[in-house]
Amino acid sequence: MKTVFQRTPTLKNCKTHYCPGCGHGIAHRLVAEAIDELDIRGKTIGIAPVGCAVLAYDYLDVDMVEVAHGRAPAVATGMKRTNPDKIIFSYQGDGDLAAIGTAEIIHAAHRGEHITVIFINNAVFGMTGGQMAPTTIVGQKTATTPKGRNITTEGHPLKVSELIASLPGAVFVERVSVSNPAQIRKAKKAIKHAFELQLNKTAGLAFVEVLSPCPTYWRMSPVKAMEWIEDEMTKVFPLGRLKDVE
Ligand code: SF4
Repeated sequence: MKTVFQRTPTLKNCKTHYCPGCGHGIAHRLVAEAIDELDIRGKTIGIAPVGCAVLAYDYLDVDMVEVAHGRAPAVATGMKRTNPDKIIFSYQGDGDLAAIGTAEIIHAAHRGEHITVIFINNAVFGMTGGQMAPTTIVGQKTATTPKGRNITTEGHPLKVSELIASLPGAVFVERVSVSNPAQIRKAKKAIKHAFELQLNKTAGLAFVEVLSPCPTYWRMSPVKAMEWIEDEMTKVFPLGRLKDVE
């Protein structure tokens, strides 16, 4: 029997460029479902990152802008302050948010900007060829750490959610994963809540980190990549709600 992948109004009916088993497709769907269920498509503006999700504007049927690498939270700040009734979100990977864009996200969270940030952590630079990212876990082999990340030479993985949760301007921080159906349901709830807070004008930044597979540069099958999230990634990046001022 042919399985038909049902789209939502916000998830465009088109093929994506993502590799088989990539988590971006699931994360896009969760964002789209949250927007549709909250009925905010007409007033939502998204920001696409530089990275594998650079073409997110082709897949999500809301107003989207593309910005320079890592600068999404700064642009989102301007967009929200000049359009306070719009729902503004950024969708960023770990290269975009946790490497070149570290300053932007920390200061936007510290200022308590009223924006929603969806942070996709796949522990590697995907678009540029699988190099080590700040979120690469210790021992993980990448193009630039062929023997595995070594604390002595490359330092520890950056725990972005813990960092953001420590800032007073962040009102909601949760780390979720898309590694199995139960976790995907939790991820959906967190993403929807992060939009709801902005809709309810709760003052501050809402941040959801999504542990997401990159089978291509983890050099694993899609199934193995999902298992690796549960067996290895969650040891370093524990799932759960780190902060909710409500
Ligand atoms: S390289 Fe990795 S993150 Fe990028 S599209 Fe392929 S699987 Fe997804």
